[in-house]
Amino acid sequence: LSDLTHLLNRLVGERVVLTFDHDPSLRMIRADRRQLEQVIMNLVVNARDAMPGGGDIAIRTDNMQLDQATEVGRARLPAGDYVRVEVHDQGCGIPPEELTKIFEPFYTTKRTGEGTGLGLSTAYGIVKQTGGYIFCDSTPGVGSVFSLFFPAHDR
Ligand code: ADP
Ligand code: MG
Repeated sequence: LSDLTHLLNRLVGERVVLTFDHDPSLRMIRADRRQLEQVIMNLVVNARDAMPGGGDIAIRTDNMQLDQATEVGRARLPAGDYVRVEVHDQGCGIPPEELTKIFEPFYTTKRTGEGTGLGLSTAYGIVKQTGGYIFCDSTPGVGSVFSLFFPAHDR
């Protein structure tokens, strides 16, 4: 993921500060590298678009062990070992009634030509393929957090 920071910094432009904390003990995610990068890029581009006046985007990663099935945000995760990746922004946020729609193909609030509405549905498909989970917690006017949970592997 750290190879990505250069590209991501160019994507977000000057008004957005992007931080990426890389946990050296982070376990492995079994996924196609390109696809994983695409997921992170889609989330970062959305975060940038949500902050037209600039702001901070933080990507945080950690290992997360669940001893029993747990409600995390709006998802129920089975027990297991996960690699968690979160993308935080300080953007416009998403109203609760829209949170259920954002992962649907072609759902977009952007003007024609600016958004395809495919970023999050693509991300959802890729994360699901790895056996993982993706969901969003958002407060309008404060910002959003997209959380990804991937099954953790040792290699
Ligand atoms: P697109 O970016 O092409 O509109 P996406 O599938 O990537 O399509 O996102 C769908 C919609 O979800 C966006 O149009 C926007 O309304 C909302 N959204 C996604 N990410 C964020 C975010 N970080 N902050 C606020 N709204 C978001
Ligand atoms: Mg998008």
